[in-house]
Amino acid sequence: MLNGEKKIARPLRWAMVGGGRLGQVGYKHRIGALRDNTAYQLVAGAFDIDSERGKDFGINLGVDENRLYPNYKTMFAEEAKREDGIEVISIATPNGTHYEICKAALEAGLHVICEKPLFFTSEEGEEIKALAEKKGKIVGVTYGFSGNQMLLQMRAMIEQGKIGEIRVVDLQYTHGFSATEQGDKTNAAQKWRVDPKVAGPSFVLGDLSTHTYYMSELIMPKMKINRLLCDRQSFVGSRAPLEDNAFVFMQYENGAVGRLWTSSINAGCMDGHRIRIVGSKASLEWWDSKPNELKFEVQGEPIQTLIRAMPYLDESCNADERLGALHQEGLSESWANIYLKFAIAIDAKNRGDEETLKNLVYPDINAGIEGIRWIENCVRSADNGAVWVEYENKKTVLV
Ligand code: NAD
Repeated sequence: MLNGEKKIARPLRWAMVGGGRLGQVGYKHRIGALRDNTAYQLVAGAFDIDSERGKDFGINLGVDENRLYPNYKTMFAEEAKREDGIEVISIATPNGTHYEICKAALEAGLHVICEKPLFFTSEEGEEIKALAEKKGKIVGVTYGFSGNQMLLQMRAMIEQGKIGEIRVVDLQYTHGFSATEQGDKTNAAQKWRVDPKVAGPSFVLGDLSTHTYYMSELIMPKMKINRLLCDRQSFVGSRAPLEDNAFVFMQYENGAVGRLWTSSINAGCMDGHRIRIVGSKASLEWWDSKPNELKFEVQGEPIQTLIRAMPYLDESCNADERLGALHQEGLSESWANIYLKFAIAIDAKNRGDEETLKNLVYPDINAGIEGIRWIENCVRSADNGAVWVEYENKKTVLV
């Protein structure tokens, strides 16, 4: 169980690029990173594309005025001159900027925590992976939901054979907030999401389904996709070629099949993030709207609801427990868990502790690259007329 005590010798000196006052995701990074006060200290920032607004925002967050920079390049250069300069940055900017900022940070000798989808192409991912290896740095990816410890319970139960052979993988991440075109014009965060120059080769496949795809890999590390078929649509026509809805069918090496529905036009849906794994004996099902519960359904027996923080759960699950039984938690805890693991990875990398790195389960650069590959395969299938395609670039070792 986690109680906020330190896990690494001292907090890492941390800065953010993006995630400013009007940014959607910035606060999630801060509540994740600063939750325990023993893993990270926010000491600098280039928070905003509008440098004055970014500076004002940083002052309000309590960051030293002299360490609020007009852009990330200045920040990396100035911080490198300080003895107490930053050691790790988080990138919470639109997709199209991730690659250049990540590269510049690694070249400046910084560890990186970056938003998803990591980059536009897996070639960029491999290049950055090689650079990170050369520099001895960590690149973490904020698949924010994936720190929920009930997913580790699913992983443990599947590994222990509790559901038998996996037969069907049923994934969904949908919402209805882009059901109309209106936000594409009026909402800054929505506008860039439907612009291929900034968003990349996909909208919802990258924006939503990369989360769920990574979570499926986390739960089922041995399952590899052989082929997939992706059918994608732009129900709001002006978004083409970027999709606001997609169905993906998967065929796995072990004979299992899967489907994933991702959508931003699922009008009215407030409860659309779900993972169901069907095995030969039983099924497991988790919804992020009920993050404290895991349904375990054994064929022929009453349905069981496993509840967070209970002693009957696997050790790996309860190791990430923060509040204890009866106290409800959710996404912020998931973020905090991921951030803590990034810090442990960074600390281990700094100390050359490969053993810790080998055993640490967190979304690393491979997970980011896999997210890109997933999009590439989906787009290739969809754009060839929704056909089955061989799953290219079989996954690298995930964890
Ligand atoms: P947003 O448009 O709401 O905010 C982007 C922020 O970055 C703004 O503060 C903007 O001023 C700043 N910015 C843009 N370019 C910059 C630059 N060059 N230097 C410094 N600051 C810059 O976008 P968002 O919705 O917060 O998304 C940002 C990223 O986070 C995207 O990659 C998105 O896919 C991802 N995201 C992830 C999650 C998650 O759950 N992990 C949730 C939402 C968004």
